[in-house]
Formats: sequence, structure tokens, C-alpha cells
Amino acid sequence: MTQTAHAILKHVFGYHDFRGPQESVINALVAGEDALVLMPTGGGKSLCYQIPSLVREGTGVIVSPLIALMQDQVSALHELGVRAGFLNSSLSTQEVWQTEVALQNGELDLLYVAPERLIQARTLELLQNVKIALFAIDEAHCVSQWGHDFRADYLKLDMLQRVFPQVPRIALTATADVRTRDEIIVRLQLQNAQQFITGFDRPNIQYRIQQKNNPKAQLLRFLREEHNTHSGIVYCLSRNKVEQTAEWLCGEGFNALPYHAGLSAQVRQKNQSRFLRDEQIIMVATIAFGMGIDKPDVRFVAHLDLPKSIEAYYQETGRAGRDGDASTTFLLYGLEDVVKQRQMMASSEGNEEFKRNEQQRLNAMLGLCEITTCRRQTLLRYFGDNLLQPCGNCDSCLTPAQTWDASEAVRMALSCVYRTGQRFGAGHVIDVLRGSSNEKINSFGHQQLTTYGIGKHLTADEWRSVFRQLVARGLLDVDTNGFGGLLLNDSCRAILRGEEKIQLRRDIKVTANAVARKQGVAVDAEDQPLWNALRACRKRLAEEHGVPPYVIFHDATLREMLERRPTSPANLLLITGVGDSKLKRFGDEFLAVIRASEYAE
Ligand code: ADP
Ligand code: ZN
Repeated sequence: MTQTAHAILKHVFGYHDFRGPQESVINALVAGEDALVLMPTGGGKSLCYQIPSLVREGTGVIVSPLIALMQDQVSALHELGVRAGFLNSSLSTQEVWQTEVALQNGELDLLYVAPERLIQARTLELLQNVKIALFAIDEAHCVSQWGHDFRADYLKLDMLQRVFPQVPRIALTATADVRTRDEIIVRLQLQNAQQFITGFDRPNIQYRIQQKNNPKAQLLRFLREEHNTHSGIVYCLSRNKVEQTAEWLCGEGFNALPYHAGLSAQVRQKNQSRFLRDEQIIMVATIAFGMGIDKPDVRFVAHLDLPKSIEAYYQETGRAGRDGDASTTFLLYGLEDVVKQRQMMASSEGNEEFKRNEQQRLNAMLGLCEITTCRRQTLLRYFGDNLLQPCGNCDSCLTPAQTWDASEAVRMALSCVYRTGQRFGAGHVIDVLRGSSNEKINSFGHQQLTTYGIGKHLTADEWRSVFRQLVARGLLDVDTNGFGGLLLNDSCRAILRGEEKIQLRRDIKVTANAVARKQGVAVDAEDQPLWNALRACRKRLAEEHGVPPYVIFHDATLREMLERRPTSPANLLLITGVGDSKLKRFGDEFLAVIRASEYAE
């Protein structure tokens, strides 16, 4: 059996080896067993149900809530020579009918179905009269009522086990936490399923978190120096900021689109599909832009505002690099972010326990921002994973952060907060510390205070860094009446009395190339003409076939062509991602491009 699965891997998908637990998952399903698969994004979950669907007799039925993606998924399978179809509300009656007939005639290897469609009596009856290879329940965390992707229709999927007791089922998700996992098992009746749980590391993603001082300039430099020709996502907190940022990026010569819940469904749909199809495109979005971003070549995810938890951060950054190529995440954060998030949480609806939980999650996120050791180790530890060595691919590893003994500065900061009456934000307290003279200081008589002007030895930026870290560590509170005043709390007593020392992170002034970047996705100058020609060829074919470019070939496949320069069909077939069907469809065109470049040299 494994032989067959392996032959399919090679001939249909053009891959040489299985990845991680893929082979064991496939074997379990082929043998008729149920499976629960937890793998990170980009781990290769699709093959886990696609290959057994091809090995087993009958049609593999895939339940997915991501209706917008079905057309592209099915087109991609057609390019591979796989007989696939889908049923969801976007189809006309005629199209539904055609798909149903194909299913009844045994002409479909794979059928994608929206959950609400699957549970209709009509669909169930149809399925009961055909041979079904397996049921795959994708995005299985949607059964969790605690998660933000909850879909009520998913709860009804437990009937699959009763109606089709002989058909193996596989549930898949990238959501890591144990509670969700247990819920999936119970709600989908998967108590007997074999479990395949891999680590959650995404080694191709580089994690970077920087202090925000001039966010626009910082983002521009990041984009221009590292991702000028790539696609990516820029997350902002508010709709307003999304609009402004998208407009500003367009003005700077980038191809940027906005996405937030305030736009009409039509505009959102249009922007999302442009993002999926175009190359070199930036989506500026609120977190409303989330599920269903299945674009494999998202090369960067930037955050201009602080995510409210590590869960959110990991999910959002996880949209980068599904294809396994080097990708960067870039978070800018500063004192205002901490203050804003603390206030939003304090004033949010929900009971005390809920608020306390939210604060704890935020604290963990702030901890990640302020740590001076490997970010990836911290991230993975948060999800219960263990990474023994520092990763070498985060900013802490690449440019180790310095710390300094800030005990005295912190004492000054805390006592100035106290002397000014615990009702001012950091800006004013810093003015007092630095002995500035302005209207506000005069009107409150703050030049009389003993702390006035005691902190001239630090710049305003350095003081902001001190205050940011104090708030982040919970040594100062932020008042909840909306003005962002700083308050002392019990935890700062020992430092104030001089009984405890405190080390703070020294913010690195970010200069160009502060982070030594190994650009895994860069192309050498002499290879550039062929690279461009290969991409142009891909683009042309994509347009002809009405599919996104990555459906023709992934970047990694083009890069391998660039390295190996195959000139015969047999050699082209050795390249990862080139299977029989794609060789037949596109082989000649790409070979012609490669041969032409050999003559040119
Ligand atoms: P997931 O659904 O887990 O996010 P996908 O199934 O979309 O991941 O796979 C991610 C990428 O990895 C895809 O581009 C896929 O073609 C590729 N891939 C999956 N399995 C293999 C493999 N065994 N060898 C090479 N590439 C693979
Ligand atoms: Zn690291």
C-alpha cells in the first residue's frame, strides 16, 4: 500500500519524500482507521487526506469552512490531473447538478464540501448512495466553542460516525492547545482515532520585534531592504489606521490593499482574491483578515500594533511562509501600545475572571517583546513545546540584546510618578524628570518637585524605554479612566526602597542591517534574467489557466529550476513539485525558457 502512496506522491505531486508523519497518517487511513492530525501551518496536512483518497476506492469528502478557497484548491488539483469538485453556496444550480452527477458516476477522487451543505438531507442522501473513501474534517478547531473560529455547523458533524460507520475520518488543525484538541476528540467522536501531533515550530519564519520609534520609516526600510518584490500582510489595530496605511504605502509605490470588517462584503471579497492571485501585493488589515488566507508565498507579516496575546501573534505571523521558504515577521511596539491594550482590556465587557485572563495573556505577550533571550524558545515554551538550543533565526539570536543596571533610573521614575500624584502619563513624567519647562509643568507647579530635573542624564527616548518596560513588567499600572495615567503598585516597593536591583533591556537604535539577514529567498544578480523569465512564464500560464501563479509552480520549484537548469523532460521531472501532469502541461514551456537562457549566456 505504501508503495502506491509513494508512487502517487511522486507522480501526481512531484515530491520525493514524505514529510514528518504524513506517511503514517496515510497508512492509518488507507487501513481504514480514524486519525487526528495536529500540524503547524505549512506542515503538509493536505496530502494526509488527498493521497489516501486517491489510494482508497471511492471519493474523499473534505469538509472545510473556507468556501472562498475551494475553487482554487480544486483548480490546483485539476492542474495535478486529480479529479476534484466542490459543493458550496457559491455555485449555480446547474453547477451543483453537474458536480452531483460526476459524483454519482464515480468521476471524482475528491469532493470539497462546506459544512452547512454537507449536513443537508439532500447531500447526505447523495453521499449514502456512492462509495466514499474517507471524510476529512479540515480546520477541525471550528468545533471549539471557546475559539474565535467557532462554527455551529461543525457540531453536527458528529453524525458522520453514525451515518457512515465504515468510512474512516480524519480531523486536521493547526491549533496547538490541549483544550481544543480534547474538544475535537469528544465533539467529533474521534475517541478511537490515532493521534499525530507534531511540534509547532515554523523554522522558516524569522521572528523580529523592535521598539517603535518612527513606525512609518521603520516599516518602509523593512519593506524596501528586504521585501521589495514580495507579498505580505501588515496588521493594524483600527480600521482607520488600515485605510491610512494602505493609502500611504500606495503613495510610496507599493501595491497595497485595505481589509477590515467595515468594508462591504464585496470589497473584502475582491481584495482578498486579488491578494491570493497577484504577486508583489501587500494586504493592510485588521485581524478581521484571518481564516482562509491560504496564499503559500506570503513572505512577511508585519504588525504595526501589539497583538493582545501570544496566541493571536502566533496565528497571525503563522500566515507567513506556508510554502516553507524563508519568511520574516516584524512587530513594532512601544509604550503607547502597552497603555492602549491595558486600557482596552480594563474597559472591555466581561467579568473579572475574563479580564484577569486577558491581562495574563497580554502579560505573556509583553514578556515576549521584552525578553533578551531567544524569541522562538519562549514562543514554543508557551505552547508546551521545547526547543533545546536557541534558534539562530530570531532577532535576539542574531543581534543579542544588551541589558543595563537600571535600578537607580527606575527609582527616579517611580518616585517621580508618586510626586506628580499618580495621574499623569509617561510624557509628562519624563518632562519633569528631564527638567523641561512648558505650560503643563508651570501650571501644576511641577518645577518645585524634588524629582524635577533629576533625570537629565537620560534622553527622552531612553526614559520612554524605561517606562515601557516598567509597564510591560507590571511594575507600574495604567489607570483605567482613559487618560493613561501611571500608578504605583505593590510590586515596585522593594525597588523603590533600594532593596532590589533591576536590569532592563537596552533598546537598540535600529540602523540598516542591524539584523544580519540570511536571505534564503534572494536570487544572485547573474541569475536574475532567468529568474524573471521563469516567473514571467509562470504568470502567463497562470493567466491562461485562470489560477494563481503558485498553482502552476511554487517559488521553491522555480528556484530549483534556476539552480539545476534542467534541459530535458526527464531532468525536469526530478525537480520537487514537478509531477507527471504538470510536466505534460507546462514542461515544454519552462524547458524552452531555460534553453533560451543557456543560448543567451
Ligand atoms: P498545511 O495545510 O498543513 O498548512 P499544506 O498541505 O498546504 O500545509 O502544505 C504546505 C506546503 O508544503 C505546500 O506547498 C505543499 O505542496 C508542500 N508539501 C507538503 N508535503 C510535501 C512533501 N512531502 N514534500 C514537499 N512539499 C510538500
Ligand atoms: Zn532565536
